[in-house]
Amino acid sequence: MSESSDLSGLSKIYEESGKVRISLEGKKFNKIRKYAEEHFEQFWAEQAKNLVWFKEWDKILDWRDPPFAKWFVGGKLNACVNCLDRHLTHDNNNIKNKAAIIWEGENGENRTFTYYQLYRSVNIFANALKNIGVMKDDRVTIYLPMVPELPIAMLSCARIGAIHNVVFSGFSSQALVNRINDSKSKIVITADGSYRRGKLLELKRTVDEAIADTPSVEHVVVLKRASNIVRTGSKDVWWHDIIENASQYCEPEVVDSSHPLYILYTSGTTGKPKGVVHDTGGYLCHLNATAKWVYNFRKDDIYFCTADIGWVTGHSYIVYAPLMHGVTEIMYDGTPDYPKPDRYWKIVEKHGATILHTTPTALRMYMKFGDAIPNSFDLSSLRLLGTVGEPINPDVWIWYFKTIGKENCPVIDTWWQTETGGIMISACTDIEESIPMKPGSATFPLPGIHMDIVDEKDGSSVASNRKGYLVIRKPWPGMLTTLWQNDEKYKDTYWKKYDNIYYTGDYALSDSDGYIWLLGRADDVLKIAGHRLGTMELESAFVSHKSIAEAAVTSMPDEKKGESIIAFVVLRTGFSKSDNLRKELIDYIRNVVGPIATPNEIYFVNKLPKTRSGKIMRRLLKSIANGATETGDVTTIEDGTSLEEVRQAYNEMHKNI
Ligand code: ATP
Ligand code: MG
Repeated sequence: MSESSDLSGLSKIYEESGKVRISLEGKKFNKIRKYAEEHFEQFWAEQAKNLVWFKEWDKILDWRDPPFAKWFVGGKLNACVNCLDRHLTHDNNNIKNKAAIIWEGENGENRTFTYYQLYRSVNIFANALKNIGVMKDDRVTIYLPMVPELPIAMLSCARIGAIHNVVFSGFSSQALVNRINDSKSKIVITADGSYRRGKLLELKRTVDEAIADTPSVEHVVVLKRASNIVRTGSKDVWWHDIIENASQYCEPEVVDSSHPLYILYTSGTTGKPKGVVHDTGGYLCHLNATAKWVYNFRKDDIYFCTADIGWVTGHSYIVYAPLMHGVTEIMYDGTPDYPKPDRYWKIVEKHGATILHTTPTALRMYMKFGDAIPNSFDLSSLRLLGTVGEPINPDVWIWYFKTIGKENCPVIDTWWQTETGGIMISACTDIEESIPMKPGSATFPLPGIHMDIVDEKDGSSVASNRKGYLVIRKPWPGMLTTLWQNDEKYKDTYWKKYDNIYYTGDYALSDSDGYIWLLGRADDVLKIAGHRLGTMELESAFVSHKSIAEAAVTSMPDEKKGESIIAFVVLRTGFSKSDNLRKELIDYIRNVVGPIATPNEIYFVNKLPKTRSGKIMRRLLKSIANGATETGDVTTIEDGTSLEEVRQAYNEMHKNI
């Protein structure tokens, strides 16, 4: 990789990493990409032909009223049919009797659903929903743990044309109230309880609190999961009761391609969560194509995506994409470190997972505990490793590649957002020309996806090796159609900065070979003595130090430099905090990234404030460092004590100054 001043931090780490290069097989990439550029709409129409349509579209893309795109106008389909009914025919590799979901609970218990069993369960539950009054277009809030009934409930909604609104089951009643009221849901589906680290979570109690303030709710459907004694009110019905007399087959509702499949709120890393709406036809087309390119699914794959279905990765790449492809997947209801920090490896070994898709946050947690743990498991079934959710630090990438993949599995870093619906930037194991991988780079935009990196001021494309805002120049099939009942906010948030160009809010650069490097959130950019530094470069430099497991960097006002850098770091097992280590780290960062990046202060903490989807919430660190008493929207924080710890670490240091 060529040198560049802008990429100095990351490139040095990369150079020192021994230049990991993996060649992906395949010869079609350039051809496909070129074709997609030249025949943009036609290209996507060809992808859409791989879905099951009741009626084909009349027009591929309607972009006459930007930013409101309509994909496959006039086309009619059903999402559930695309995931299940399509696999019931005899000529389809006998997918009908293949395991669709291998479920594992945190206590090690397993349940398996074949495609046929899943199909049957969905049909029955769809009828049960109809029997309690759910109709096409009604919103259904689903507040369930990671049990098979969660995808069953989602697919049942899709079957009858209802719009699901899944709320992550770790959220409080207030977060639930906001999402139920915003979507005006008629039904809430929940469980009597669920388990987290061996403890009972009283989901039903949270729902009871919530529905006192949610006038739209007519019924609460309760799944018996924990044999927990719960209060039953007048609106409550048991899942097992309503399926008792529901009939076995439910005619799928044939919907327009533009019919909303679901509402899903973003993670809340940068502010108040936004209610993203996805359509049916465009979204499924995007997922079907991208899953094939990125994973190149094989008949005998056992696919393990560790996301929670409460987030978009779970919606797109646990529910809709793998089921459309007839894949066998593992669904795990638990945390990566329970009962011990080895759980993903244990699951890979137990079920013979071939593809593992997880987050940098989980990987950094495992790294902290050392290599002996993963080395004690048989991980030889793995053929492909994926990551999503945050930029992956080069050192973490290399650890994943070497310690988990034993240098045999490509690591694919997939960049995308709740709003994009599906993967936008990633290496493609199905279609890639033989290319070297660069640890820490998400590589290239997928075919038919028009990403660009632009200058902050005028929106013009920046030269290679120059940082800028990551944008999308053309509509894409998986794109959000709007924010729920808020077209204005949709326009303002994503399309106003540059006229009819989608603003992602992320900061990136493309190197001399055209590889894209994600550099963090635009909101988090540090402005030091006239230079703009991405958080990613600095954090990766910290994580490349032997003592550091995790780092979050932000800035505080500085009279001389405008802003100065401060870092919150979590140490690896076996290291302890000291002034010497602090000094060593400051020197290290100065050497690796350059004198401009010299941190002013380093705080040692046990955990960083993160969203429940595992993303570091730098805006909270920044507000503490700027002396704000109000920290903004914290409804999606994973653990409030992390914020307290950060505040304490900060105050303690400032007392002494
Ligand atoms: P909010 O929009 O409410 O602030 P959020 O952006 O965290 O929350 P998501 O849609 O879950 O909500 O996350 C998308 C964001 O996650 C991207 O904009 C990007 O910042 C980050 N991200 C996802 N995948 C990657 C990746 N592979 N590399 C770098 N960043 C990533
Ligand atoms: Mg976002």
